[in-house]
Amino acid sequence: MKKHPAKRTRHLVLVLGDQLDRHSAAFDGFDPAADAVWMAEVPEESTHVWSHKARITMFLSAMRHFRDALKKEGLTVHYRLLDHPENRGSLSGELTRTLKQLKPKRLISAVPGAWRVQRALKKTAQAMHTQIDIRPDRHFLASSEAFSQYAAQRKQLRMEFFYRQVRKKTGILMAGDKPAGGKWNFDAENRQGFGKEGPGSVPAPRSFPPNSLTREVMAAVEKRFPDHPGSLKRFDWPITPKQARLALDDFIDHRLHRFGPYQDAMWTGEPYLYHSRLSAAMNLKLLDPREVVAAVEKAYHTGQAPLNSVEGFIRQIIGWREYVRGVYWFFMPDYLNRNTLGAARPLPRFYWTGETDMNCLRQAIGQTLEYGLCHHIQRLMVTGLFALLLGVKPQEVHAWYLAVYVDAVEWIELPNTLGMSQFADGGVMASKPYAASGKYIQRMSNYCVDCPYEPGQSTGEKACPFTTLYWDFLMRHESLLRKNPRMQLQLRNLNRLSPEERRRLKGQADRVKAFATNSENP
Ligand code: SF4
Repeated sequence: MKKHPAKRTRHLVLVLGDQLDRHSAAFDGFDPAADAVWMAEVPEESTHVWSHKARITMFLSAMRHFRDALKKEGLTVHYRLLDHPENRGSLSGELTRTLKQLKPKRLISAVPGAWRVQRALKKTAQAMHTQIDIRPDRHFLASSEAFSQYAAQRKQLRMEFFYRQVRKKTGILMAGDKPAGGKWNFDAENRQGFGKEGPGSVPAPRSFPPNSLTREVMAAVEKRFPDHPGSLKRFDWPITPKQARLALDDFIDHRLHRFGPYQDAMWTGEPYLYHSRLSAAMNLKLLDPREVVAAVEKAYHTGQAPLNSVEGFIRQIIGWREYVRGVYWFFMPDYLNRNTLGAARPLPRFYWTGETDMNCLRQAIGQTLEYGLCHHIQRLMVTGLFALLLGVKPQEVHAWYLAVYVDAVEWIELPNTLGMSQFADGGVMASKPYAASGKYIQRMSNYCVDCPYEPGQSTGEKACPFTTLYWDFLMRHESLLRKNPRMQLQLRNLNRLSPEERRRLKGQADRVKAFATNSENP
């Protein structure tokens, strides 16, 4: 019998783990009779930072569900499993193998979520003499080009002005050309702690217990990455678009109304409080931000949620989320190496274990390892704050944040960590360092109640390490911070310290730093 040569693939559409969007520009013009999809689970993406088991499971399970949905539609999907004996281990290796085999005329991808991955795809395509078409990611409201134009016209970038521009352009939460409610933000109403009584009964978020496909992934992850940090016991994330929509409905029905006032509050044993648990689903593109924003805005118009909660949430999505993406692509790749404060200490070992007697860190890190998630204030004002005050090398802090959160993709994680939290970009993301003493944590949580240290004490046996390091941070960076108008109040307080007080503080801070660096408790 005469053999017919296999038909050559026309376009190979690359779908990465954070691009699980059937409406992505990468699928524009897709012809199921001529084109195919390529997806690969490669160990390198789980090991280039020491990834939490829940983060790896989140990506791989969502990928397998997306693969099955595409196949159900009749699309051809070339999919490499993590535990396939011939898995070459990296995106480049796997893509090279597929290119040799299929010889497609063109590769098509949406912009990846990491500069490193974009470079790897381009280099692989070039080495294999294959054209690659990297298309804009229209998941986002603002394109990288629009952000570049916005940034090029300004001496100083600030999220607030970018956010207002997005609101005006889109009409989101606008009443004509004025912001709904007459104000652009409601921060003054939105920074409450729970007080001594605590949060009371908080409605538990909807849970999505692992199905058989997710359990297969969990087993593969446990087998392949047994020594990686974190646990899979609590894994119940939405991993399909349908589940992500159910999680959105659940948030709007049960928690959005109190999100605003308590978005910065923290409480022992309450990992989610009034937060949405949507960040991972959104960052993997299971959920479109427009859909999220429209549903949340509708809750305001129907009286289901107050404006301070709705605006506070929408600011996170169309403000911060879009803004950090713009910053990432505008300043990469140099951004990755920035270190304005010259911080050089290693990350304390307890960041990987939670074994410290500083209760706030034990709670935040413990929750991270157990669930793969902490909310933004636990990240910024507990784990991030301690690293900033201690003087940890920002690239080490970045590698930790990228590794341990189920929602971590570099475009969103890096500017938040390196810029916002560690002030390593010298003020691109934040107008001043987020430096605070243990008193802030005491005000916003109950962590200090069960801690051997006293947040109000900066020296002595019971001195809170955060408070000691806060003063030491101001002393260390005094000359740089003097140039910053927003730091003047804090520096005036520093000026009140006598030379003797400064000397004692420095001695105590040196002991804290030595212990923390050696991963012992201070
Ligand atoms: Fe954290 Fe200091 Fe409070 Fe202890 S006293 S929980 S170390 S802020």
